[in-house]
Amino acid sequence: MKEFLQRHRIGLTTLVVLLLVLYVLQPARDSVQMHEFGGGTMGTTYSVKVVDEREQASGELLALEIGELLRHLDRDVMSTYSEDSELTEINKAAVGENLSISREMAEVLTLALEINALTDGAFDVTVGPLVNRWGFGPEARRSDRIPSQEEIDGLLARVGSQYLELDAEGLTLRKTGDVYIDLSGIAKGYAVDQLAHYLDGRGFSNYFIEVGGELRIRGYKPGNQSWVPAIEKPVDTAPQVHNIFYARGEPIAVAGSGDYRNYFDQDGVHYSHEIDPVTGRPVTHLLAATYVIDAEAARADALATAFMVMGTDKAFALAERIGLAAYFISKRPNGVGFDDRYTSGFAHYLSAD
Ligand code: ADP
Ligand code: MG
Repeated sequence: MKEFLQRHRIGLTTLVVLLLVLYVLQPARDSVQMHEFGGGTMGTTYSVKVVDEREQASGELLALEIGELLRHLDRDVMSTYSEDSELTEINKAAVGENLSISREMAEVLTLALEINALTDGAFDVTVGPLVNRWGFGPEARRSDRIPSQEEIDGLLARVGSQYLELDAEGLTLRKTGDVYIDLSGIAKGYAVDQLAHYLDGRGFSNYFIEVGGELRIRGYKPGNQSWVPAIEKPVDTAPQVHNIFYARGEPIAVAGSGDYRNYFDQDGVHYSHEIDPVTGRPVTHLLAATYVIDAEAARADALATAFMVMGTDKAFALAERIGLAAYFISKRPNGVGFDDRYTSGFAHYLSAD
């Protein structure tokens, strides 16, 4: 080394300066660029973090394109709040008519029907009329919040996924009953998947996507740190961490459902926004929150909603049977504290190594 330096007449000081310059020019792992942005969509918020090691994109452009993708999926396709969305058109269309639908709508409905069958009807996007009547949809809440049994029976006559017929390619829909579709239990997850496909397509392999609490993460944070998603304590106060888990670089989707953010209490009864399509009533059991980890956020989202309807025991049994990573938080019967239960698939994510 000494000889090399002497031969090339490079002084030690020069070498130190050179090394320093190289060190400074070498981007530290921690200073790897991360684009972070968010906003409102689907009646809730979204947040996206994209690690951009090769400075391949402008943060503004990414934010703009993702904002537009979400606006489209929400306002143009899946919203029941928007007067001219595709879903509103479908809900207004006559029974028996052949309706040509978009690829996005076809994908969501195909998956919704699959999860309906898998969960024995617990997840059912045709539960919409009851969601609205109980005050959890686009219709204004009524002063007589609790419908009579007769009224519930009348609305239940319109509920059933068997009234939705998709052709083989899934691009034509026919309603065989007077159904009204509500995609709120699956749309956020689907949007998360679409954003992930968009980022994958742009060549990104390290990101965090969240829409209304449904997540999809891939790779690592700058500094090779694992994304550490939190399980929220099922309480209606400011968000508190109940537990955390580790993705360890795996591309995963996570969805949660709970009875503690969207509900009303009347005469000592807790009415949550999860409606049992068999009884037509909000579920009342002790399961307070469910988290599902899966490859696809739409599937995780629908399953988490279904599990809230099924209750811990049935949901746990189904999750184990299909090898799903699921986490359940139940209220104790005495009302103090919670009991946690998780499938063997979920245990894998609870340790950092
Ligand atoms: P969140 O993530 O907001 O907790 P979920 O993903 O659990 O919500 O979806 C709940 C929403 O799904 C309800 O507000 C309602 O619009 C709709 N929904 C309620 N019950 C059902 C059901 N049994 N099947 C499908 N969708 C449902
Ligand atoms: Mg859901």
